[in-house]
Amino acid sequence: MTDTQIVEHPRNSLRGKVSDDEWETRVALAAGCRMAQYFGWNNSIRNHLTARVPDEPEKFLMNPVGLMWNEITASDFLKVDFDGKVYTESDLPPGPAGLSFHGAILKANPKRNCSFHLHETDGVVVSAMAEGLIYTNQESLTLYGLVGYHAFEGLADEATEGPRIAEELGDNVCMVMWNHGLLSVGRSIYEGFYFMQRLVETCQIQVKLMATGAEIRHIPKEVCEHTFRQFKKRAQKRALGMADWKAYLRLAERLDPSYKL
Ligand SMILES: [Zn+2]
Repeated sequence: MTDTQIVEHPRNSLRGKVSDDEWETRVALAAGCRMAQYFGWNNSIRNHLTARVPDEPEKFLMNPVGLMWNEITASDFLKVDFDGKVYTESDLPPGPAGLSFHGAILKANPKRNCSFHLHETDGVVVSAMAEGLIYTNQESLTLYGLVGYHAFEGLADEATEGPRIAEELGDNVCMVMWNHGLLSVGRSIYEGFYFMQRLVETCQIQVKLMATGAEIRHIPKEVCEHTFRQFKKRAQKRALGMADWKAYLRLAERLDPSYKL
C-alpha cells in the first residue's frame, strides 16, 4: 500500500451465524471498546477486551489488532481457544501477548468471564512508580486489597508468562503490570469494566495529585479496610457496575449504534 491509500476493513456480520449467547457477548464487548475509547482509555489499534464465550467456555472473544476502538463492531472479535487457535475468519490477527495472558487468566478461573488490558497513560505512569498504586480517595477503596502486580519481563508473548500472570493475579480483580499497563477481570463484562474504570480513575487521581507536589494525606489503614467492607456490603445488594453499564449502553447507542453490526 502507499502512504495515502485507505484500506477498508471488510465487514461480514456474524449476527445469526453464531449462537445468541456468543452474539450478545460480542455486542457487549464492542460497546465496551466504544466506551473505553470515549473515556480516553485507548486511542490506538492495540490493547484488548476479551470475554469467555458463554456456550463454549474453553474459548474466548478478543478484538484483533488493527481497528480503532471507536470503529470496532460485534462481528470483528476473534473467537480463540486457550492454545491460541483462531476460529473466526478475519483479515486481522490477534495480539500475541494478549492471546497468551488473557487465555491463561480465563483458563485459571472458570468463574472469571472477562479480562481487559489497557495502556491508558496514567495507568502506565503509575505502573512505573516504585510505590505502585496508592489509595488516596473514597472510590479507589473499592479496589482495596484487590490489586495484584506483575513484573515487566519484556513483551508478554512468551508462553510461560501467561500462566505466571494468572497466578500472580490470584483472586484479585485488577493488576498493575509494572512498567507496562493495567488489567482487570470480572464475572461479567459490566463487572470487569467497572473494576477497570475504578483502576484507571485511581491512577488518574494519583498522577494528578503527585503532580501538584502537595504532601499526600494518606487514609489510615483501618479506615481503608472499613470503607472497603462498606463497598462490599453495597455490592451484595446490587451487582457492581450494572447501573453504570446500563447508562454506558445507552451512551454507546446514542454515539454510534454501529457497534452492534
Ligand atoms: Zn500491553
